Amino acid sequence: MSDCIFCKIVDGTIPATKLYEDEFVLAFKDLYPAAPHHFLVIPKKHISTVSDLSDDDALVFGKLALSAAKLAKEHGFAQAGYRLVMNCNSDGGQTVYHIHMHVLAGRQLSWPPG
Ligand code: 5GP
Ligand code: ZN
Repeated sequence: MSDCIFCKIVDGTIPATKLYEDEFVLAFKDLYPAAPHHFLVIPKKHISTVSDLSDDDALVFGKLALSAAKLAKEHGFAQAGYRLVMNCNSDGGQTVYHIHMHVLAGRQLSWPPG
């Protein structure tokens, strides 16, 4: 998708602070952090919303969660705790239409979300 900012981060056109990369996913720091640790894990393949996932995406979707858990351990907040969030469409608060898993940590996170 030529007009997608996260595809541009994948192809290197837009810079990002990259934290992890493999064949399937890329993780980088959120530009506007909502917590002391705020990472985004995205599939390298463009998928607009969680509702657009197909059965063929089951592996890459699992890789998002596995990469998030790996980062939590590497960055030392797995034990204290963290939150994984995927916003879908307007009411869900999605603003970038390339699916991403937020990894939030480093403070007590409130629940329920606003
Ligand atoms: P959403 O609201 O779609 O769930 O989350 C999009 C996230 O992407 C937001 O937390 C926002 O701060 C982050 N974001 C938007 N543009 C950029 C960018 O160009 N670079 C990075 N690293 N994060 C971005
Ligand atoms: Zn994209």
